[in-house]
Amino acid sequence: MKKADGADLILGPPLDGRTCGGCTLCCFLPEINTPELQKPASQLCRNCTGGGCSIYDHRPEICRDWHCAWRRVAAMPEAARPDLIGVMFELAQPAAPRSILHKLYVRGIAVGSWKDFEHADAMRAIAHFRTLTLPLWLCFGDRMTLAHPAPEIAHCLLGPAPAPTEAIAQEVQRWRTIFEPL
Ligand code: SF4
Ligand code: SF4
Repeated sequence: MKKADGADLILGPPLDGRTCGGCTLCCFLPEINTPELQKPASQLCRNCTGGGCSIYDHRPEICRDWHCAWRRVAAMPEAARPDLIGVMFELAQPAAPRSILHKLYVRGIAVGSWKDFEHADAMRAIAHFRTLTLPLWLCFGDRMTLAHPAPEIAHCLLGPAPAPTEAIAQEVQRWRTIFEPL
């Protein structure tokens, strides 16, 4: 778990009235590597009781500031709380991105299997993120699949492939203009 710069600007600030309830997925799924707290990915934090945080009142800053996409994005279905659909969406901004499509992106992480992405509310969330000019990667275990932008645009962004049409060339240029400077 890393606090993505500008998450408030890109996904929006945490929504009033949308609370974690019984979800503790971000105490399990992401790697946390801060001076105050370290844990590997897919391992429950030692402070998680299973229904909450045993050090809630003095939990580390990263836990106070970080919110998954569902806590921020009103267009995601209310029923898409991560523990209920088995998928957590977050904004990711790696320190050492592997490509232009890894600089800043939405990452959906499935909890139990790849089929979690077929949950109706996960699919609605995916449909929403596909409307944005922001890469969407779907992850389970070591597998990471690009779900947005479309393959013909991604191929041009990731390699020297020429755009097959003028419309695609313009779309590729639009993505480059946004993501190359990051
Ligand atoms: S994954 Fe989202 S909803 Fe679940 S505990 Fe973390 S911030 Fe709350
Ligand atoms: S310190 Fe508390 S809020 Fe932070 S990851 Fe651990 S259990 Fe979750």
